[in-house]
Amino acid sequence: TSASRPSPEPTRTTCGYCGVGCSLDVVTAGGKVTAVLPARDGPVNQGHACVKGRFAHGYLTSPERLTRPLLRRDGRLEPVGWDEALAQVARGLRAAVDAGGPDAVAAISSARATNEENYLVQKFMRVVIGTNNVDNCSRLCHSPSAAGLTASLGLPGGTDTFDDVEKADCLLVVGANPVEAHPVVGARLLGRVLHGAKLVVADPRAVGLALHADVHLRPRPGTNVALFHGLAHVLLAEGLADEEFLRERVVGLPELTELLADYPPQRVADITGVPAADLVAAARLYGRARRPAILYGLGVTEHLHGTDGVRSLTNLAILRGAVGTDRGYGVNPLRGQNNVQGASDMGALPDFLPGYGRVSDPAARSRAEAVWGVPVPGRPGLRIPAMFAAARAGDLRALWVIGEDVCATDPDANRVARALDACPLVVCNELFLSETARHADVVLPVASWLEKDGSFVNFDRRFQRVRPAVSPPGAARSDFDVVHAVAAVMGVDLGCATPADALAECGRVAPVFAGLSHDRLDRESAVPWPCPDPGRPGEATLYAKRFATPDGRAHLAATPYLPPGEQPDDDYPLVLVTGRRWAHYNSGSMTRRGGNLELDPVDFLDLHPDDATRYDVRDGAHVTVESRHGRACLIARVGEQTATGQVFCSFHFPTSGVNRLTSDHADTVTSCPEYKVTAVRVASSS
Ligand code: SF4
Repeated sequence: TSASRPSPEPTRTTCGYCGVGCSLDVVTAGGKVTAVLPARDGPVNQGHACVKGRFAHGYLTSPERLTRPLLRRDGRLEPVGWDEALAQVARGLRAAVDAGGPDAVAAISSARATNEENYLVQKFMRVVIGTNNVDNCSRLCHSPSAAGLTASLGLPGGTDTFDDVEKADCLLVVGANPVEAHPVVGARLLGRVLHGAKLVVADPRAVGLALHADVHLRPRPGTNVALFHGLAHVLLAEGLADEEFLRERVVGLPELTELLADYPPQRVADITGVPAADLVAAARLYGRARRPAILYGLGVTEHLHGTDGVRSLTNLAILRGAVGTDRGYGVNPLRGQNNVQGASDMGALPDFLPGYGRVSDPAARSRAEAVWGVPVPGRPGLRIPAMFAAARAGDLRALWVIGEDVCATDPDANRVARALDACPLVVCNELFLSETARHADVVLPVASWLEKDGSFVNFDRRFQRVRPAVSPPGAARSDFDVVHAVAAVMGVDLGCATPADALAECGRVAPVFAGLSHDRLDRESAVPWPCPDPGRPGEATLYAKRFATPDGRAHLAATPYLPPGEQPDDDYPLVLVTGRRWAHYNSGSMTRRGGNLELDPVDFLDLHPDDATRYDVRDGAHVTVESRHGRACLIARVGEQTATGQVFCSFHFPTSGVNRLTSDHADTVTSCPEYKVTAVRVASSS
């Protein structure tokens, strides 16, 4: 929707829901938000916004907002003042270090937090605690993108600015539902199709864009790598690869050619369920386009072999010479959360410092040490799943969860809850008494994205400013202030007193961000990284001269297809895929507390009419869904959007227990959970 701007002067900020990064003008009266308008001059959204960014702000004044710190006493969470809460956190962290050393403490940071907050969290863990045990929620979504794109092309981000998609004449959209999950991007993609671009959609479900596709490939969940190899096989077999590009800028072609001999269309059809003729038609559309584009989502990454999926998908762009040239719109992940790119960019990762210097690299460590004035540990820390395992084993003695509802959104939620209960100190920064907060020892009330200052990085690597439109309620404070306050109680001044100072300091640790500052973002609205020089623009399109790999070349990946962690069987005959819906966002803690609940009031289990008949489930009936890991209760919605043998639901309603169903199978490279393949059975419960 587009809208005109009323007076008085609204606050310009960046949407805190999905990774598109829409610029929004927030209108207030009497200290309350009265309207959120899409900015006509927004660099990405150009006057548009979706139902989440535009209307889901009622949560700000929800009576359920946390306004005072809570401390667990005699098993109950009781309101206390900040001094008492901070003293308890500091005491607990010190006790954990005394008992088990610095590695007995861990922190989970978040895409919900600004860049500057993520920078401060990782600095706190490395400088105050002395551990690399810090991770962020990208572990659960796009960590395979970071690993796969880095291995193939050199940098852990999308390759092009989204503006260039306007020049694409063939869109290959894989494992993504942008019409619902990234509506502003979905609309722009649809616009391209209406202006003549070809569209290939690869997704097991009949997602919104599939209705407009020239070819819709519906692979069985977990068979992406075979699908992408099948497409690559056709590109090579039909002479659609860019031989000059391959000769001059690429390594790995002989190994890939040998592997692809095993993936002719008919064999791929047998593995994936995609008809061979459709596979060939899709490969020809992508292979013959003048400027083909690849955009993908979590349907590529959230698999046992998610990194292999990213790499084998990237192979297609490399084979076509459609990345690092003006002959294509590269390979671009549609990031789910607002700042999932930035949280990793800022070094809230157990193996990387800000700007992706490896903690194991002495040169990267010494750059950080020169700025921070303390030694940085060289051993990589724990990833999120390993933090929970360490807590269950008694090795992790304190966990600080910042803006994540891990008991609702992480897989095998029963095991996550057991891990939190086993950990002597759990601290939780939250807006509401979330599922995770209910297991915490200290709950700290914090500001939301409409109440704080900083910046986010969107899905095409653009830094944009976040500005407070209203004040947080009661005694709630920004995560930035809270981290500073805990450090101060522990006797450490973290420096960088303001978010602007933090971004400036980050630029001294990480050369790729050295050209960024709040002043510059205020002047220019959006600046992409890499941006090493304040006097030059950031790099919107990557790899024009060389790839960022050590040898400067793109690396084709010859990774064989391997099956997913779970397969349907007689006991659990259906495959559950989870994902997002239009009106809600992630655990739904914000979108369910406002008008969007009326748009989408309950979670449904989508299933095909054939399966509804087979399992005696009526449309609208209450159903019990069981996996090997747990049980959930949902309402059946029968329709053909979901293929036979599969069921689909969102994770926006934690009380339905969806993530009690999902398994702890995870990407073999990055530990990203396999949310997209869980074997389940369904029975009517009404
Ligand atoms: Fe834009 Fe995404 Fe926010 Fe919607 S949720 S307004 S598409 S950034």
